[in-house]
Amino acid sequence: MSKSLDIVIVGAGIGGLTLAIGLEHRNIPYTLYEAATQFSAIGAGVGLGPNALRAMAIMDPVLREMYNGISSGNLTPNKEHVAMDVMYAEEGLGEKHGWQPAPFGAECYERTSAHRKDLLDIMTSRINRERVRFGKRVDSVRQDENGVTITFKDGETVQADLLIGADGIRGPTRQAVLGEQYPDKVSATYSGKYVYRSIAPMKEALDILGQHAGDARTFLGPGVNFITYPISRGTEYNMVAIKVTDEPWSLPQWTQEVTREEMAADFEGVDRRIVKLLDWAQPLRWALWHHYDTPTYYNDRICLLGDSAHATTPHQASGAGQCIEDALVMSHLLGLIQHRKHVPYAFKVYDALRRPRAQKVVQTSQELGKIYTLTSPELTDMDSIVENLNHRFLWIWEHDIEGDLKTATEQFKALVEEARL
Ligand SMILES: Cc1cc2nc3c(=O)[nH]c(=O)nc-3n(C[C@H](O)[C@H](O)[C@H](O)COP(=O)(O)OP(=O)(O)OC[C@H]3O[C@@H](n4cnc5c(N)ncnc54)[C@H](O)[C@@H]3O)c2cc1C
Repeated sequence: MSKSLDIVIVGAGIGGLTLAIGLEHRNIPYTLYEAATQFSAIGAGVGLGPNALRAMAIMDPVLREMYNGISSGNLTPNKEHVAMDVMYAEEGLGEKHGWQPAPFGAECYERTSAHRKDLLDIMTSRINRERVRFGKRVDSVRQDENGVTITFKDGETVQADLLIGADGIRGPTRQAVLGEQYPDKVSATYSGKYVYRSIAPMKEALDILGQHAGDARTFLGPGVNFITYPISRGTEYNMVAIKVTDEPWSLPQWTQEVTREEMAADFEGVDRRIVKLLDWAQPLRWALWHHYDTPTYYNDRICLLGDSAHATTPHQASGAGQCIEDALVMSHLLGLIQHRKHVPYAFKVYDALRRPRAQKVVQTSQELGKIYTLTSPELTDMDSIVENLNHRFLWIWEHDIEGDLKTATEQFKALVEEARL
């Protein structure tokens, strides 16, 4: 039955593309509408945890194999299971405390990161491009007993049996799901932080940071944090420089151009080698917003997936991983549908399985943001922080996604059965 449904996906980011791959594998037709005129990715890195890679392997073993070809681990041998080394960001990188790089990680974890563009390229190679319509910006979405009506900015209107909104943190489908019942939960909230992003050639990073480049590191300082890791098969070094602010974000747009001097001033007191890596950054502040609470991911035949549901701050490097998990569960459920009226059951099960976990990722990420910027009242000394880091990711990384698929089948069948009675 799923094969005769009109399925619309909005948004060709990591979430929408992974869902499309999942549907391709089940021979379920869909149309993917993307506002941009082509597949695109902001030039930056993305790290995937073992949970995300397991979900990817279940969905598409070939994609998982391709990911091996584009990703990078720590460059130092025997550090496969080290997620990051914890360092001070202050001048001297902790020398005055006698601090040595302190690793955290887990047996189940394998360090990998990739350039986003490379990731999107391998993903798009796994779908039928004829199913993608570019330059189609959704303006509004509404539904009635006949289905979902999607209106685009260019005036075109299409009908669908169901719609998956993978249109990111500010996409319009969130309004269609939450607007009526939870209007105050539609817009994202400012997390109190912004970032700069930089990608330096690895050779230059090694010249600047010496032994500290090449592996993934988190550099902690009061109100600041720097996350660095290799990408592009170890030829580039990605850095996210995070700054905590007391002020609310007052601009309508979520980026702010500043001067190089203003960017450097944000990181006074930070070791100059780290600040030097900002030479490769655009002096552009990216405000970090998130969907801290989302009371439901679906409304009848419209359902949210990825950042449109649970945009998170990046501290746990898990937003994209949650997109992949979402897409696996969603494609599995869509494959179970045998009648048009089953659509809301599939979404109900998806919501019950995905929302508690994904929202916990959002909330614990905000907590980790405080720890990484030494602003957490509970965790103040570095040894306790490293101890905390060695445990805090396990529930994300060790998650039983195969178990979720089994539960999804059982719950969906039970709902269908119940409806028949
Ligand atoms: C600094 C930073 C670092 C991060 N690092 C990591 C990391 O290391 N690991 C990790 O797992 N996650 C990371 N994340 C999170 C991760 O990037 C996101 O969770 C993920 O990319 C979200 O994908 P998405 O497909 O849901 O949304 P998006 O990537 O936002 O894609 C949404 C798509 O929808 C399209 N769209 C929007 N509106 C419309 C419309 N009206 N009509 C049609 N199309 C529309 C957009 O053009 C876009 O293509 C990071 C995030 C940030 C900010």
